Amino acid sequence: VWELSKFGQQLGCGSGIGELMDDLGHALAKGGDRVRMLGGGQPAHIPHMDTIWRKRMQEIVDEPGQLEHALGHYEPPAGNPEFRVAVANLFREEFGWDVGAENIGVTAGGQTAFFMLFNALAGSFQDGKRKKILLPLVPEYIGYANQSVDSGTDSGDSLFHAVKPRIEMTGDHEFKYRVDFDALELTDDIAAVCVSRPTNPTGNVLTDAEVEQLADLCSEKQIPLIIDNAYGAPFPGAIYTEVTPVWNENIILTLSLSKLGLPGTRTGIVIAQPEVIRWLSSMMSIIGLANANIGQALVAPLIENREVLRLSKEVVQPFYSEKSRQAQSWVREFFDDSLPYQIHRNEGAFFLWMWFKDLPITSFELYERLKQRDVLVVPGNYFFFGLDDSKWRHRDECIRVTFTMPEETVRDGYRIIAEEVSKAYAE
Ligand code: PLP
Repeated sequence: VWELSKFGQQLGCGSGIGELMDDLGHALAKGGDRVRMLGGGQPAHIPHMDTIWRKRMQEIVDEPGQLEHALGHYEPPAGNPEFRVAVANLFREEFGWDVGAENIGVTAGGQTAFFMLFNALAGSFQDGKRKKILLPLVPEYIGYANQSVDSGTDSGDSLFHAVKPRIEMTGDHEFKYRVDFDALELTDDIAAVCVSRPTNPTGNVLTDAEVEQLADLCSEKQIPLIIDNAYGAPFPGAIYTEVTPVWNENIILTLSLSKLGLPGTRTGIVIAQPEVIRWLSSMMSIIGLANANIGQALVAPLIENREVLRLSKEVVQPFYSEKSRQAQSWVREFFDDSLPYQIHRNEGAFFLWMWFKDLPITSFELYERLKQRDVLVVPGNYFFFGLDDSKWRHRDECIRVTFTMPEETVRDGYRIIAEEVSKAYAE
């Protein structure tokens, strides 16, 4: 009925992936238990972690004043002061980073942190110029794609400028994306560089050397490197390779409590220069007054006594690493060795990224066929936003498949995917 502003049109009128998720949701509702939902990024319910949250909740309820504080107080928009101190202490004492509470900000989940960071750093400027966020490697997290308040999603108009990766074959049916530093150019219209590490959708973990080189390039250009650590080390620990967590004044590092098992608390953590935290705090107060308190209240003691590090290492990491191993063994069991299927080396996150080279149908058609058979996956084309080369066939040859769901769901799903892929190659 009412005319929408650019902002309204950008954010209020849906998105490709939004429609797809809706479609998946409806299919799920219709199919009930029959549908194998391998599309989402939902963390698993790890019994040990759920027990801890229950116990912590009970402690909050039992301790006079704690529940009243967590539910009944507006806290400062940068987060609970003690929580910020606890996070800073952990990183200063355990990792030697030069950070205090002024370097720590809380947001309503990592997702909101990215919305504020991207739009504050890039987009249109007072003097008429436009700047972009550089994604040094796509496929990259679909949740970034539609976050701009004033740019479209076509590559020319996009808030993002993405660079194609190098593809390295690392096994008979295994590959790994690498940053193509030769193709990476930090021109003056680049406001910041952003990577998720581990990467959603691929499970890639940029090597320490790649991160160091990106950080050096950004320092030279005096632009920030944003590292999205929604899955990584030192928490939540959905990472299956050894890496060093890094931070310096030029890096904006984001963490989240979601993949520890608390997505419902909407708690993101940003570690950055104090000035960045002040911007975020100002934006948070304007947009939402304050953050949700309960996630911070649940986790603060575990950060203070470092339990969060032990749990990540001894509970979360082994749990997902076993899920990943199992998923890969099912791929080997169900996919005919003679097919040219390739799986991205799985180094973290919740998904296998499958590449079907020269598949006669697109990954979107494969998605539709799988949906007919009650298996829901995400077609890979959505993850290549900001990339100029629309003719690159690889974009339509991949799918993202979750492995955090119950065993039978994953196993059955993978068996059916293998059947449909085999059929498609035979066409
Ligand atoms: N970054 C990545 C790479 C993700 O996969 C997700 C969620 O799936 C997020 C950020 C945002 O998570 P949250 O807003 O729950 O912290």
